[in-house]
Amino acid sequence: MRSSIRLGTPLSPSATRVMLLGAGELGKEVVIAFQRLGVEVVAVDRYPDAPGHQVAHRAHAIDMTDPVALAALIEQEQPQFVIPEIEAIATQALQRIEDAGVATVIPTARAARLTMDREGIRRLAAEELGLPTSPYAFADTLHEVRAAIEDGIGYPCVLKPVMSSSGKGQSVLRSTDDLHRAWDHAMAGGRVAGTRVIVEGFVDFDYEITQLTVRAADGTHFCAPIGHVQRDGDYVESWQPQPMSEAAAAAARDVSGRITEALGGRGLFGVELFVRGDDVLFSEVSPRPHDTGLVTLATQRLSEFELHARAILGLPVDVTLRSPGASAVIYGGVDAKAVAFEGVAEALAVPGTDLRLFGKPESFTKRRMGVAVASADDVDTARSRAAQAAAAVRVVAD
Ligand code: AMP
Repeated sequence: MRSSIRLGTPLSPSATRVMLLGAGELGKEVVIAFQRLGVEVVAVDRYPDAPGHQVAHRAHAIDMTDPVALAALIEQEQPQFVIPEIEAIATQALQRIEDAGVATVIPTARAARLTMDREGIRRLAAEELGLPTSPYAFADTLHEVRAAIEDGIGYPCVLKPVMSSSGKGQSVLRSTDDLHRAWDHAMAGGRVAGTRVIVEGFVDFDYEITQLTVRAADGTHFCAPIGHVQRDGDYVESWQPQPMSEAAAAAARDVSGRITEALGGRGLFGVELFVRGDDVLFSEVSPRPHDTGLVTLATQRLSEFELHARAILGLPVDVTLRSPGASAVIYGGVDAKAVAFEGVAEALAVPGTDLRLFGKPESFTKRRMGVAVASADDVDTARSRAAQAAAAVRVVAD
């Protein structure tokens, strides 16, 4: 069978051209995956020399929340595919691009809009699709937050700005004493000043997973579940596969299949789920590779980044797990530009390990600067190898 898919030669009139909106560490790996297929890649971020810029054919630094600047750049570069890699993007511009048939937005402009806002995705999941979630309410004032908690959500609960990610502005409330502090923290931590908040019942889960889900030309595929540990809303460690009961694993695939079907389009999604016994609650979904999925660089025949690239291009995918494995994040630990990494040789001397150093031009104490990944015969060994390798790397001001 011959398919109609053709890939061209980069930097020539036949090129298959993609534009990544967001060129951090995840975008960098997506760029590399496309490069390996001879696709021409344009990488965009808000600052120069971002990780993905360094491996793309062309790089641009613009404010991607500015719809005029974003539309002008797409017009100038004429990509066939526009691939959002972050949430903070002028999604109205993406909608116009899609409506005009100028380029295919991955997975769709609507999915990019709904998932940039906790309200859009939560209402779709819980109210339209009837997926199980924590109890929740939206609020614009501290008074409304208090009323929502007293009217049923109760304590403990979690307060988050609707426009935020990676735990920014998020806190757990254990009693009324925490209300003011949590509100002030949410107002300071949102992407947009004065944002709405979501208040969610605290889920006392046994464990949480990311269910990577690929919508490819031939249907939907599910990777082995990824377990992870979060600290202050940011992931510090992940592993694959996470052991699950058959019932919970089936529920995870069911929830993930339904939410990704509702979002539509092609590409890889990271569905975040809380698991308690055999019950699975939907938390969030990223319509793009997920940070906890960095582990797939060590575990799967095709990493989440390669799966994303293949699915976008309409090529066959293969979600086979090759080996148990784990990842451990390397944080900056210092505020400095042009840092150096020491202990790299010691880290790579740990059996079965590999490193990704992202090449970010500036380090912050809590900025993710690299990751250690490891494979082993079992997850526990892989976790200790990844942790040992990550701990061996020291980020120093040069
Ligand atoms: P999020 O930014 O919504 O992905 O939240 C980051 C992390 O905070 C999650 O991965 C959980 O570990 C934790 N978390 C968020 N919401 C809740 C909740 N309702 N109950 C318990 N833990 C939560």
